[in-house]
This record gives sequence, structure tokens and C-alpha cells, in this order.
Amino acid sequence: MKCPICKHGETRPGNASVTLERSGATLVFRDVPADICDNCGEVYHSGEITAALIQQAENAVSVGVEVDVRRFALAA
Ligand SMILES: [Zn+2]
Repeated sequence: MKCPICKHGETRPGNASVTLERSGATLVFRDVPADICDNCGEVYHSGEITAALIQQAENAVSVGVEVDVRRFALAA
């Protein structure tokens, strides 16, 4: 799709790292599927991916994780 941020680039499928901060915890997810703008580098995630990221972040916080770096995987 056309990038809505810079309005010049096209987004292409790739992987990106995502950092989420929740309740004082910092969680880094690596290799998250994303569409990435080839001009400005803006990263876009689908609704399904975003929902999974938030769910996994909240799960980690609920078990007391404060800092974590993990490979992202969609729950089966
Ligand atoms: Zn862009």
C-alpha cells in the first residue's frame, strides 16, 4: 500500500522489532511480521498482529516480567 505517513513510499512485507512498554515493563518482540515503507521506514502491523502483541505483552506483565526480549510467534 501507499505509505500514509510520507505519502511517497510503498510498503513491503518484512520483519521488524517492536518495543512495548506496559505498567513499567519493557518488552521487545523480534521478527514481527510487518509492512515497512521503502521510503521513510515506517512500520505497519495488521490488526491480528497488533492484537497478538498486546495480548502477549499483557500475559508477560501478569506473570511479573519486567524486561524481556523474545522472538514473536503468533499463538497457535
Ligand atoms: Zn513512508
